[in-house]
Amino acid sequence: MSRRRILVTSALPYANGSIHLGHLVEYIQTDIWVRFQRMQGHEIHYVGADDTHGTPIMLRAESEGITPEALIERVWHEHKSDFDAFGIGFDNYYTTNSPENRAYCEEIYGSLQAAGLIARRPVEQFFDPVREMFLPDRYIKGECPKCGAKDQYGDSCEVCGATYAPTDLVNPYSTVSGAAPVRRESEHFFFRLSDPRCEGFLRNYTQQAGHLQPEAANKMLEWLGAPGDSKLADWDISRDAPYFGFPIPGTLGAKFFYVWLDAPVGYFGSFANHVDRRAADGIAIDRDHFLKPGHGTELIHFIGKDILYFHALFWPAMLEHAGYRTPTQVFAHGFLTVNGEKMSKSRGTFVTAASYIEQGLNPEWLRYYYAAKLNATMEDIDLNLTDFCARVNSDLVGKYVNIASRCAGFIGKRFDGRIGAMAHAAPGAGTQPSLLEDMRAAQASIASLYDAREFGKAMREVMALADRANQYVDHEKPWELAKQPDQEARLHEVCSTALNLFRLLTLYLKPVLPKLAHEVEAFLSIPPLVWGDAASILAPGHVIHPYRHLMQRVDVKMTDALVAANRQSLPGSSQAPAGKTGAGAATATGAGAGAGAARAMPPEAASAEAETNAKAKATGAKSTPPAAAAPGTLTIDEFARVDLRIARIANAEKVDGADKLVKITLDLGTEQRTVFAGIKSAYAPESLVGRLTVVVANLAPRKMKFGVSEGMVLAASGDGPGIFLLSPDDGALPGMKVK
Ligand SMILES: [Zn+2]
Repeated sequence: MSRRRILVTSALPYANGSIHLGHLVEYIQTDIWVRFQRMQGHEIHYVGADDTHGTPIMLRAESEGITPEALIERVWHEHKSDFDAFGIGFDNYYTTNSPENRAYCEEIYGSLQAAGLIARRPVEQFFDPVREMFLPDRYIKGECPKCGAKDQYGDSCEVCGATYAPTDLVNPYSTVSGAAPVRRESEHFFFRLSDPRCEGFLRNYTQQAGHLQPEAANKMLEWLGAPGDSKLADWDISRDAPYFGFPIPGTLGAKFFYVWLDAPVGYFGSFANHVDRRAADGIAIDRDHFLKPGHGTELIHFIGKDILYFHALFWPAMLEHAGYRTPTQVFAHGFLTVNGEKMSKSRGTFVTAASYIEQGLNPEWLRYYYAAKLNATMEDIDLNLTDFCARVNSDLVGKYVNIASRCAGFIGKRFDGRIGAMAHAAPGAGTQPSLLEDMRAAQASIASLYDAREFGKAMREVMALADRANQYVDHEKPWELAKQPDQEARLHEVCSTALNLFRLLTLYLKPVLPKLAHEVEAFLSIPPLVWGDAASILAPGHVIHPYRHLMQRVDVKMTDALVAANRQSLPGSSQAPAGKTGAGAATATGAGAGAGAARAMPPEAASAEAETNAKAKATGAKSTPPAAAAPGTLTIDEFARVDLRIARIANAEKVDGADKLVKITLDLGTEQRTVFAGIKSAYAPESLVGRLTVVVANLAPRKMKFGVSEGMVLAASGDGPGIFLLSPDDGALPGMKVK
């Protein structure tokens, strides 16, 4: 395999708002791909930056009484800390307000000018006579020309849904000063996209195999129009002062580059800064190998589908005609919905990265869930919070981590942490060599799925392998071997084999779960796993560290609390919209949330809320398999949906005003639950404390008169008197699954 040399970018988040779960789809997707390529041994440079220019930044800084530089500095730290928390491993995270970016913008602009691709012509625009500035359309409000509703934006009415031009608004006003705007003319600079050279290049570039996904290439054909009937219009790349950005050379500070010109150039600015920083560490990277044509390197952009226009048309055309290399691939993903709907502040589903961390949720849960959902298309993906809990618990904890947690303890306690031989030759273990070989054989397929960004399919393959590893452990029953003194050698073999399978699964999951993989590497006492390590094993005699629990289960109470923490009271009227101005500004640059990034959401009726809840429940219920079993029986799958667990009764007390109920606090190993049980006639509460019992752990919480009951303890009763609480045999521990 030849070594690829790749420069990778994610879209630049706008420095005017927080990173949220919609943005994270893109950063997690890119990061997984980058980590996978790095594990393959390729040379990869992953750069990003905050997108810092434009009118919204200028006005927001003004309203906070600080400079734009101070604002973007503060937001940069917030964004960087969010990315670090979610394991987004940028090689350099920078800002577009940098000397490197400015130099590239000026140079590219100069080249386009020399090529005759810059035009100037007058443009008439709204002007705020009080604030003395031209107003982007989004800063104009007025009365809807159709229904007369007040305070509507210049493009559409949120009350009646009519769309129109800002000039149609009745009694328009500037949201900056409140003054009535006037029309004023000014000279603007244009990139001549309509020039036949650009059109010819783009017809070719957008349709060449591999540059764009098929659906994106088709979209470009629509935008380009029929040959000879080009729909490409020149692109307005200038804004008048006052503006926060880079001044256009030769305009004496009167004109600035439009933020959408300097944002993609910011990828190069960040890369140049990365190269300089590496040089300071003694590592030489040739900038031009990645930025100029003809060096056999790749340039790959991950973006949201809302900014395809900028990345698939303007950006390659600019680069081509300024003497730079064009993108090898522009890869667009869809938007995120939560529980099947647009993210919503009033529903609490507009979740910020910071609040996810604050609420104590594990970032790798989200990384895994997104990976399990992502594919190579521009389809939207849905974060269903019920499914999120179920999948994380079942796949990561129940399947993957479970292998180590069932076998590692024996290696530590019985064999001084020493790995034994694999169970190749053991009687009754005929399938084991082939299981390891099968797992290794799957590597090529998993690799090609990662490379093609079919992460969902890759996760399904890995989890199918984890199922087989668990079947092996179930079949060999190390906990029973451990009770038989003559089975010591066999116990050693089985647990060593299982840990080798676990190591291989860790390797396959490492691009998705870098932090967990790091902990596993520490526990197994091995150097960082790379893709080629699948060929080796934990050799007999290798000593591992004592096992500590690797991952907690996610409790639905945590996602409930997350939604509650993000639920906002409805804003009255939103002032400065958050997005950048101009085309494609409905969401922040890239990583589009698909919802509400630009504006506060319109009020929703209470009934909409109820409908959402009903929908979420219906979705949850849908996972029940259709009744395939005969009446009166249930399938094993149906039974498996009942999550029975061992629990220790940590506390039990009587409930004032209830003669049958005992309030029980259960310890399930990783969490505590409160359950109300009708067993007071048979047990004095204090006699229950310390006992082990069996609990239905996934019963929907039930609100009772005396509190919420979060599960059900199991007890036997017959026609006669008496209630008999179930207890497990000696050796069972809280949290163990009963099946
Ligand atoms: Zn209207």
